[in-house]
Amino acid sequence: MRRYLVSELSYHVVIAGAGIAGASLAYFLRNSGFKILLLDLKPFDRVGDKACGDAIGKHHIDELKIPAPEGRELEGLVRGIDVYSPFEDVRYRVLGDGYEINRIAYTQKFIKEAIKSGVEFREKVRVLKPIINDGFVSGVVIRDGEEVKEVRTKIVIDATGVARVLARQCPDEWPVSEELDPKDANIAYREVRKLKEPIDEPEILRIYVSNKVAPGGYWWFFPYSLKEGYVNVGLGVQGGVGNPHPKTQLYRYVLSRDIFKDSELIEGGGAPVPTRRPLPSLVWNGFAVIGDAAYCVNPVHGGGKGSAMLSAFCVAEAVIEALNDGDYSAKKLWRANKCYMKKYGAKQAALDIFRMFLQQLSDEDLEYGMRRKIIKEEDLNVVSLKGDLELSVVEKAMRLLAGLRRPSLLLKLRAVAKYMDLMKRYYLNYPDSPDKLPAWKSGTDKILSVFRVKVIKS
Ligand SMILES: Cc1cc2nc3c(=O)[nH]c(=O)nc-3n(C[C@H](O)[C@H](O)[C@H](O)COP(=O)(O)OP(=O)(O)OC[C@H]3O[C@@H](n4cnc5c(N)ncnc54)[C@H](O)[C@@H]3O)c2cc1C
Repeated sequence: MRRYLVSELSYHVVIAGAGIAGASLAYFLRNSGFKILLLDLKPFDRVGDKACGDAIGKHHIDELKIPAPEGRELEGLVRGIDVYSPFEDVRYRVLGDGYEINRIAYTQKFIKEAIKSGVEFREKVRVLKPIINDGFVSGVVIRDGEEVKEVRTKIVIDATGVARVLARQCPDEWPVSEELDPKDANIAYREVRKLKEPIDEPEILRIYVSNKVAPGGYWWFFPYSLKEGYVNVGLGVQGGVGNPHPKTQLYRYVLSRDIFKDSELIEGGGAPVPTRRPLPSLVWNGFAVIGDAAYCVNPVHGGGKGSAMLSAFCVAEAVIEALNDGDYSAKKLWRANKCYMKKYGAKQAALDIFRMFLQQLSDEDLEYGMRRKIIKEEDLNVVSLKGDLELSVVEKAMRLLAGLRRPSLLLKLRAVAKYMDLMKRYYLNYPDSPDKLPAWKSGTDKILSVFRVKVIKS
């Protein structure tokens, strides 16, 4: 029989979920002098374990000035990514440094540092729902063993990943409760395998774009360069449109290749990835949302670890100021939104437009575009780092290729570049206070719906 207790415990901040988002938030708050509680439903030795490609760009770590993975936390060094066309005839090489991490060890590094500085971590605790009083989140209901308890706090953080355990139970009129349209998610599955032969150029990750193999997504081959023969191989498909299961596609089209013959399965697993613009607001009264729970993922490549930590960083700054001033309102926490939209959200919103465009191209269009170098390697780098598709690049391509086989594709590309730019500027103009959010939000919704009707035609 479960007992319901009103806990005497009270905190300044309760963080629900100790994945990379929650763990890094605890790390950023560790020296704030406030009483912080970090909860996860997993036992400590499994915390950080989540199906992932394990790739992270070095630029995120540099920007956040956090310790880079080392020793056991590091499974590979990355020098760049090769992107292959659908028929694998064309290859773009985009250079840039990064890491293949041991996701468990790297996540736990932040938790351990936080614990050393006084953050309380509790494992095997399930967060059930938010406690809401007078329009403010003022605690959470948790299940701890056989007991159901209330924990009181000034600010609650939802870092429960795509489950969004707390945010989805907030009132509909709160912007943090915005649901994920299944079409704005990728369903991804990956395996870690040990190949029989060493891998060529193990510091180069490979991405294969093909609608036949990975409709609305891509498949990847990410070697762990520091563990000879080990590779993370996975596949993502767009959700909500009746696509086949990614595991079926991976086995059918990828693992059937010679390179995987007699390879050893080390582990497998999958999860949905939100691939859209961020939540319209990461904060509300006494509440904040970070990481996958706030849709802080790159919509084109689906990488979310770096941006999860970035959202944690922005929220940490706002939370410390709010606690110092004794004001936990959305208005006070708002600076987290300004910080995130400027650092990453604006780029995410532009890439969301690009993602929708890419998802409706045929393999023939993609092959043609890459072969003709309509967008070149260096442009791809700019798109992925900044969310800019330079109009000048597109105009040059238009002049070169107008009248050739696919003028409609080029016209579309020009429109896409314009909408990306518009969306980015709109997000960079994010409102200064919550009262202005509804007008801003209806503006973004309008840009998206016009883009869908005029360019995507859906
Ligand atoms: C197959 C796949 C490949 C990917 N590849 C990459 C990649 O190569 N690079 C990259 O950057 N990103 C990648 N991503 C995305 C990346 O994994 C996520 O964006 C990132 O891990 C999100 O971190 P998070 O902390 O927000 O969420 P999560 O890692 O999901 O953490 C959420 C935590 O909350 C806990 N939790 C959930 N519910 C409750 C509850 N009720 N009570 C208490 N605790 C709870 C969970 O146990 C978990 O520890 C990939 C995703 C998938 C699915």
